[in-house]
Amino acid sequence: MKFLSILLLFSCLFPVSAEMVLAENGKAKCRIITAETLTRPSTETLAELKEHLTRMTGAVFETVRESELPSSEDGIYYGDTAFARSHGIDVKKLGREEWVIRSVGNSLVIAGGEPRGTMYGALHFLEKYLGCRWFDYDCIVVPFRNTLRIGGINDQFRPAIPIRIEHISPDIPFWLKTRNMETVGKYGDNFGNPGRCHTSGEYSGNWTDMEMFALQPNGNRSRGQICLTNPKARKAVAEQMIRYIEVDRSGKGRWFPPGVPPGIIYDISQNDARSECYCPGCKAIFEREGSYSGPNVDFVNAVAAEVGKVHPEKLVSTYAYSYTLIPPKNLKCADNVIIQLCTGSVPNPLTSPENRKLLEKWRSIVKHLGIWVYWKEYQPYEYPYTQLNSLQKEIQLCRDAEVMCFFSDDTGPDVYRQPFYAVTRWMTQKLLVNPDLDSDKLFDDFAGHYYGKAAPLLKKYKDFIIQRQIIVPGGGIGPYRESLSMLNLDFFTAADKILRDAEELTKNDPRANLHVRRERIPFDEALLNRWKILGQNIPFDREAVIARYRQNCREVYDSMFNPKNKDSRIKQMEMRIKGFRTNPPPLPKIFEGADVIDMLWNAFDPWGFRYETDTFEDPEAAGGVAWRQPDTLKRLDAKKYNRPIHGYPVVFGFYDTGSQGNRGNVSLAENEVPKDEKYHLYKVGTMQLSPNAYLWFHWSSVSQIWLRGVLTGIYLPKVDVYASIKIMGPSYVNGSGKEDYILVDRVILVKHPENEKVPLRPELTPDGFVRIPNQIPAGFIDWNKPRKLNVRNADGKMIGTLDIPLSTMVIQKIELPEAVRKLSPASVEFEGALSQDYSRPPAVRAYNGHAEGSVVKTEENNALKLNVVDYYKDRTGKNHIDCNLYLCVSKDTAFPVSPDTTYRIFLALKGSAKRVWIQANLINEKEGKLVKERYLIQSALPAGAPVKLTSDWQDFYGIFKTGRNTKSAEVSINLWGDEKNMAEKPGDYVLIRDISITP
Ligand SMILES: [Zn+2]
Repeated sequence: MKFLSILLLFSCLFPVSAEMVLAENGKAKCRIITAETLTRPSTETLAELKEHLTRMTGAVFETVRESELPSSEDGIYYGDTAFARSHGIDVKKLGREEWVIRSVGNSLVIAGGEPRGTMYGALHFLEKYLGCRWFDYDCIVVPFRNTLRIGGINDQFRPAIPIRIEHISPDIPFWLKTRNMETVGKYGDNFGNPGRCHTSGEYSGNWTDMEMFALQPNGNRSRGQICLTNPKARKAVAEQMIRYIEVDRSGKGRWFPPGVPPGIIYDISQNDARSECYCPGCKAIFEREGSYSGPNVDFVNAVAAEVGKVHPEKLVSTYAYSYTLIPPKNLKCADNVIIQLCTGSVPNPLTSPENRKLLEKWRSIVKHLGIWVYWKEYQPYEYPYTQLNSLQKEIQLCRDAEVMCFFSDDTGPDVYRQPFYAVTRWMTQKLLVNPDLDSDKLFDDFAGHYYGKAAPLLKKYKDFIIQRQIIVPGGGIGPYRESLSMLNLDFFTAADKILRDAEELTKNDPRANLHVRRERIPFDEALLNRWKILGQNIPFDREAVIARYRQNCREVYDSMFNPKNKDSRIKQMEMRIKGFRTNPPPLPKIFEGADVIDMLWNAFDPWGFRYETDTFEDPEAAGGVAWRQPDTLKRLDAKKYNRPIHGYPVVFGFYDTGSQGNRGNVSLAENEVPKDEKYHLYKVGTMQLSPNAYLWFHWSSVSQIWLRGVLTGIYLPKVDVYASIKIMGPSYVNGSGKEDYILVDRVILVKHPENEKVPLRPELTPDGFVRIPNQIPAGFIDWNKPRKLNVRNADGKMIGTLDIPLSTMVIQKIELPEAVRKLSPASVEFEGALSQDYSRPPAVRAYNGHAEGSVVKTEENNALKLNVVDYYKDRTGKNHIDCNLYLCVSKDTAFPVSPDTTYRIFLALKGSAKRVWIQANLINEKEGKLVKERYLIQSALPAGAPVKLTSDWQDFYGIFKTGRNTKSAEVSINLWGDEKNMAEKPGDYVLIRDISITP
């Protein structure tokens, strides 16, 4: 199916009038003549068309049905009229959203394919030919001209991406005007019941036969997720889907009342939780196809075959998501299946090499493809970032891949807390309709109306953010709070100046001023969250920033939300503010002298979503607030679990969804729990910190504290985990008047002594790869020796040993050989522990030899040291310094890299030297020879500028890109000076540690 946007000009075929007068001096000069029947969406938009024409001209436009015309009449012919047909416009030949706007004599035809072609034709007419604009709820442009003429129009167009959905709230009619397809109710949705995603629970909710549910490795069947090869499950899903289709079609359904065209896509897809089925049938397909998408596609094909017999026009949708992301090796999807490929984010856009590859692979095995991108960062707090630099290329890629459905997951906690919220939504919609619009012009068009005089400054601000965010690993975005290094004091100072100037410029334009101040919300939220990290010299007044933040948020909530939603937003905002002000009380005595990470309630949720549902205000809690069980727990069916919601034993522990699995738990019998209903400290156990680790503190596991918020991104220290827990309520303490809760107010992680070797755990992925954890500090693995990897089967028996080539430490993922795969590998481990190895002296070169490199012990870990031994003198006797320390395999060997790949480099630096230059040398093959070429690493610094050193460790993030012919690379740390520009002297040094180079 081709979904190319087309703009056809028929001007040579049809008589086109030069001018049509719609209104003159505030009087309508024509009527709107409608088709005999209009779809509900076309009817709704007819009212909009009339209203806008009236607002533009002051004239009242009458409508009349074509059949009621006494004689032929000039006018605006709307919908599938006989007039349009007699002039060759056959709506049946137009796409579902394709429209035609055409002048015919002194009349105008607006018609389109149904259900939404006419509707979008009318909106397009108002926008393109009459100058109306719908930028945002409070920024709508309707130009006034009491005489309105139009020239000869001949416009036929079909949106490039047929189904365009941005997950945005709450005003659907508004977003329709930007051609967003997030359309429910009277406008008709493309997705039928029971919804667009995670529907397997809806389908299986009433099943009683446990065999139909997924088999877990522990032998249990878990409700919610389906055994995909169970014939009864397949049959039940197909039958239920047919029922949904029929209800939707009958007009009796909630979503598709009479007059509203029913959905075309019916979804059956996995839930969010990971629970693949391990029954022999599912496992066999999984093994054959090398991915869990195998059983899933097989299942969906079977459902689609049944549904297709009755409703061949419907599409059956499922996901390529999480454990089904990798496409199957052999299977292809049936023609009436649509795959929603869920990938692409701000740090890793759809256009990245790995996402392109994924898209290509799926493209080759499915006829209908949808894309689900994550354009909202799941972070503990909002901060200034943007995808405005990449979204056009991503949408063009989708258009070129003939993507049928584009969904962007913008599910923010609330609107305008995200940076550039309105312009991003608006531009996305414009580009999904026509990906070839000039995106700079789009931004300017928007900004000129939205920010008034401050438009150039907001453009500057946007460009500043884009320039900053490129430098950080994962775009600066990811689970690591500390590694948002773009958000340093320089950033806040410079951004504050731009925003302040913009506020000043718009002080006499309240609407533009309000729009500028909306950008303050993510700015202030980030500033307040990073207050402590930014140090002592912050040039802002915290209480003033909090007051501004509160006021700006309130203004959004007051104008956007109904009272109930508004109260909830305000409550969440006040909790965030409480979080900004929370200071940890002194640590208990037993932690004196220990190296600890101290977490209070405001660090417990790295996504920042659960303040309202999971917090418990408690004056006895450290920080005044504790984490509690969410109210959803009360709805748990205790009988089903064969134990009461609250009661003994009290169990808690921690879990790693990655390689560590369950890391043990604590179980307290009744006599072990103090009955004073106060906080007590418990040691939960020892674990290696990881982004996948959480502490759970109720047997149901609904209460979780994720530890990823405290990761710095490089170290994964081994820690002893302590939790401060209050157990209260009548189920625990006889006669208690309190509500039943297990509360946690503080988690204290005690780092193990330095230099403890933490083994790195490679992981076996379902698609037959070994993934090396991306926290490997690539710089200091012993590059010279290949590593050995032992592969074991489920019985623990060794079934193979592999040499891992050096480059694997960089590429992080290797495929197991076919022979090993056939032996059902179940686990992998490195032979011997692999850890940061600072024992080898670094490769150092200096012009004329006046430098030395060594490994030195620092307070936290060993570091590399580059030391200036002496000046060297040039021929004229002038002093110079030029010393390089190389991160490479050995003095003469660069490390292997992949071509056309972006590498991220992280390291920490300090020293007595004033500045260092960090750059990469790429070893490129040119005409059969290897040529070393210098590459300027992109970082927060202006191109080519040195890093300024201090006596404190500071992080450096940067990226470099390899070329098509790059074979290997090295990174150099350079101290340099000449007589005119000399900052160092002999004896000065730089220390480098925590090095990581990853693609
Ligand atoms: Zn199964």
